[in-house]
Amino acid sequence: AAKDSGKNNFKSYCPEMEQGLRFRRELEVELRHALTRGELELAFQPLLHLSSGQISGCEALIRWKHPVRGYIPPSEFIPVAEETGLIGTIGEWVLKTACKAAVSWPPHIKVAVNLSPIQFRTRDIVSEVRAAIAESEIAADRIELEITESALIDDSKLTEVALFELRSLGVSIVLDDFGTGYSSLNYLRKYPFQKIKIDRSFVGEIETSQDCLTIVEITLLLAKRLDLLITAEGVETVEQLNLLKALGCTQAQGYLISRPLSAACILDFVRTQSGNAQAA
Ligand code: C2E
Ligand code: MG
Ligand code: MG
Ligand code: MG
Repeated sequence: AAKDSGKNNFKSYCPEMEQGLRFRRELEVELRHALTRGELELAFQPLLHLSSGQISGCEALIRWKHPVRGYIPPSEFIPVAEETGLIGTIGEWVLKTACKAAVSWPPHIKVAVNLSPIQFRTRDIVSEVRAAIAESEIAADRIELEITESALIDDSKLTEVALFELRSLGVSIVLDDFGTGYSSLNYLRKYPFQKIKIDRSFVGEIETSQDCLTIVEITLLLAKRLDLLITAEGVETVEQLNLLKALGCTQAQGYLISRPLSAACILDFVRTQSGNAQAA
């Protein structure tokens, strides 16, 4: 009887776990086909240059429009792509597609692409970037590659060499989500960054939390002294924008400026915006 009830107890909370695992396995199989079936798309979110008031770049953000499940956010499928190694193929597609889109934008507008740490470990990322540049004929200095601190955590010589090679191609290297990972100030010294992006968890509370304001102020000072540009992520209110401007932040990105837009919409957006800026 004890054995029976044990079995029953196990069963009583197992279904959810089993369902979770099954969902993940299904996602994995479906993700394998997503690229070839054209279910992956890129959205682009503008970055506003604060002192000029001009859009200075757009960040490519991957979207999966699943035919049955609907929209699946990258936070759900990027980890699956990383675990299965599919991020290699997907990441290469993102690079090429983003560069191709950007060549139709006004030339002062850069394109930012997120790179997974796995791409540094399992792919020849330098060759892939070089190929994306050659195929799209985009100027290398219009490309920004965003990496998070998790790419640097293992202190790999391979990643370090790749970052310097990428830099020598003329692309910019950006440290994404600054302050949220295993922040090591040493990273700022060791790797060839041009810019850091301060995470939206700090930006969102600059008006309500003295601590967040302090962290943002000190990060801005640090960036300035190290000759790095800085983007504030997740700007949602005019008050946040004005405060960041007053503090000397370089760029802002967030729903206040624009949500991520489809490739067609972003082309309209950047063209109208730069037309307006010229007319003004
Ligand atoms: P991230 O690179 O830090 O991108 C910023 C995320 O914040 C995006 O979420 C964007 O839609 C969201 N966001 C922008 N402004 C606001 C705002 O004002 N408020 C709020 N609440 N959110 C805002 P998304 O598109 O869901 O992407 C999440 C993460 O997935 C990205 O964070 C990035 O780490 C990853 N990701 C997206 N696309 C790619 C890709 O092509 N390759 C790789 N490796 N990772 C990607
Ligand atoms: Mg990013
Ligand atoms: Mg970010
Ligand atoms: Mg972030």
